[in-house]
Amino acid sequence: MKIIDIINGPIPSLSFEVFPPKSSDKYESVSRAVAEIAKLSPSYMSVTYGAGGGTSDYTARIAQEVSTYGVTSLAHLSCISSTKEQVSSQLDCLKRLGIENILALRGDIPKDFNKSELEFKYAYELVDQIKNAGDFCIGGACYPETHPESENAEKDLEYLKIKVDHGCNFLTTQMFFDNDIFYRFIEKATKKGISVPIVAGIMPITAYSQIERMVMISGNELPRNFMDLISKYQNDPVSLRKVGIEYAIKQARNIYENGFNAVHIYSMNKYDVAKEIQDNLKDLIK
Ligand SMILES: Cc1cc2nc3c(=O)[nH]c(=O)nc-3n(C[C@H](O)[C@H](O)[C@H](O)COP(=O)(O)OP(=O)(O)OC[C@H]3O[C@@H](n4cnc5c(N)ncnc54)[C@H](O)[C@@H]3O)c2cc1C
Repeated sequence: MKIIDIINGPIPSLSFEVFPPKSSDKYESVSRAVAEIAKLSPSYMSVTYGAGGGTSDYTARIAQEVSTYGVTSLAHLSCISSTKEQVSSQLDCLKRLGIENILALRGDIPKDFNKSELEFKYAYELVDQIKNAGDFCIGGACYPETHPESENAEKDLEYLKIKVDHGCNFLTTQMFFDNDIFYRFIEKATKKGISVPIVAGIMPITAYSQIERMVMISGNELPRNFMDLISKYQNDPVSLRKVGIEYAIKQARNIYENGFNAVHIYSMNKYDVAKEIQDNLKDLIK
């Protein structure tokens, strides 16, 4: 099924993200986690591609496994380190495996790169290639707090509009911890003429060690009230996990209650986290 049809459907959507194994010896454990999360019957599951130094070798395989459980899968695909030929063979592989949905990403710029050798500079070029390769539903990334490399928010939105106009059917946001930032972003995107659905990406913080990484990935400071809450339990991992999940549930609940019908949880292969969040939102998503 196409994700755009799920998002535009009558039931609010709740989706989960998983990441593929970094090496073959981890395949079995990831595969088990994916099976467990899939049994929760989320609206769809997305599978990352080489994110955070991980591998991209298993993305298509894990995405295909997701669909064997009757759950729609969204395969991430990044382009910055690839040639057009490599992307083409990835797309052939996804097609062969029956994957209909792709999140088209630029990826983070590799450290030692020669700019003139890059075949892709921006995600919109990947969107073009996917569009020409077949009948895929295409998603793109967006940044309520502005992409860290952008000169300013206005420029970032201009480029986002271009990416959408090249053929994105929907967008998913970078994680944010203050819903007002999301609502303001939606307003600005709408004013800019971006009319595709925007899925809210929520990251449940379950360990203090995640904080530094989140700041690094998003390039943003975390809101004061959230940091105060998390810092209070810095040395109490059980309570920290509890308040981190509660905070994510509160964010998601507030988003649905404000009339937005698509929330994506960065659940990071954690079945228990996915289940707890889903259980607590049941009244809103069924
Ligand atoms: C929901 C989500 C999922 C993600 N999943 C993954 C994953 O699985 N694997 C992974 O490696 N990374 C992933 N990322 C991270 C992403 O690859 C990085 O944030 C990357 O730095 C930007 O990717 P993008 O697709 O947003 O790039 P783009 O849309 O190309 O934007 C990148 C930068 O270039 C600017 N720009 C865009 N178009 C133009 C233009 N035409 N002219 C000038 N400047 C332009 C933008 O303003 C922005 O600053 C994900 C991010 C999000 C939000």
